[in-house]
Amino acid sequence: MSEALAVLKQGREKSVLRGHPWIFSGALKKLSGKTGDTVRVVDSEGNFLAWGACSPDSAIPVKIWSFGSEAETIDSTFFERKLEQAFQYRKAVFNGTLPDAYRLVNAESDGLPGLVADVYNDCCVCQITGAGMDRFRDVIAKLLLKYAPRSVYERSDVESRLRDGLPFRTGLLAGEEPPEFFQFTENGIRFFADPRNGHKTGFYLDQRISRKTVMDAAAGAEDALNCFSYTGGFGLAALAGGAKRVLNIDASADALALARKNAEANGFTEEQFGTQVADVFQFLRKCRDSRRTFDLIVLDPPKFADTAAQREKAARGYKDINLLAMKLLRPGGKLFTFSCSGAMDGDLFTKVVDSAAADAKCDFRIFARMAQGPDHPVAATFPEGFYLKGIAGIRIS
Ligand code: SAH
Repeated sequence: MSEALAVLKQGREKSVLRGHPWIFSGALKKLSGKTGDTVRVVDSEGNFLAWGACSPDSAIPVKIWSFGSEAETIDSTFFERKLEQAFQYRKAVFNGTLPDAYRLVNAESDGLPGLVADVYNDCCVCQITGAGMDRFRDVIAKLLLKYAPRSVYERSDVESRLRDGLPFRTGLLAGEEPPEFFQFTENGIRFFADPRNGHKTGFYLDQRISRKTVMDAAAGAEDALNCFSYTGGFGLAALAGGAKRVLNIDASADALALARKNAEANGFTEEQFGTQVADVFQFLRKCRDSRRTFDLIVLDPPKFADTAAQREKAARGYKDINLLAMKLLRPGGKLFTFSCSGAMDGDLFTKVVDSAAADAKCDFRIFARMAQGPDHPVAATFPEGFYLKGIAGIRIS
């Protein structure tokens, strides 16, 4: 059997030499290998550069496993070392005390393209998003038991798999079946997450710090509005921080049912924690037309742009909701607004928020900027890993 081989065009080795994990098709002179094969990457002269995962039909046909050392073998020992590095990184950024729930593996930024793994107490939910990693799913499942000894559950129901010709896959990978709901605390708030039916792995762990920022700024708010609430994370943070009431809006009735369960677990009443199934775009317009106002608003929408081509349309969507939200803010009211579209960079998002303020004729002052939490690192060699941006500001008048 011949070894899978990727030969780069002349002069195209620079990004690999800098440690960037993606090789685009335009940089390849030749690629031989099947989807999921471990491929030897060489420069145009045949000099060894890296080992990667091969995915010939994808826009990124090679993702790098290991740079520089030809002697490296991509096997169980390799993945064991990478997972332990990822774990030690979390221990370091959380100062030795890990939260109940955290992201253990953040794909490329942990040197593991194609793998996301979130730990909830003694259980783990992982997503295998590409063919290279899929070859090693049994290996990964066993290794993850070290960090989640009770259960390793798979939620590989992500679009990127289809591009690699892989079907969606969900179910138990190792250990025992996980409970119906995980129970954990974040910033002192109790949460339930549903590993089987929840979004992603059950919970948006990336917003931990932003939810704390909302909690710390919520005192004195009479009426808070949590748009795109999912299971109520920001709404509960606002109440825990001293807001009197919060209304949580989401298009998903199931998400809001779990949000109410979360509210109850924290001792909040229905008067304090309201929910409404609605389209946020329409709901904000209705509030504008009926002159309903709020002291605190959170906008945490899903991704509006997957690619650079969708950026302009996405910018219009962000502008629309931010402009409406600013109009609904009482003087002194606070807005916490987010974009998780990687294709929309921080500068563009700031511009959109600034221009929404201008159009809303709102004297808006930014007091904090937020980003994905520390368990969602961005490798210095992989700036694409930065996706979550947040802006907090006050409407002065
Ligand atoms: N803020 C949440 C995460 C939000 S995820 C947290 O901290 O956990 C985005 C949510 O937006 C999803 O729950 C999805 O159901 C909801 N959603 C998507 N489009 C929507 C729309 N147009 N109107 C209302 N909700 C929407």
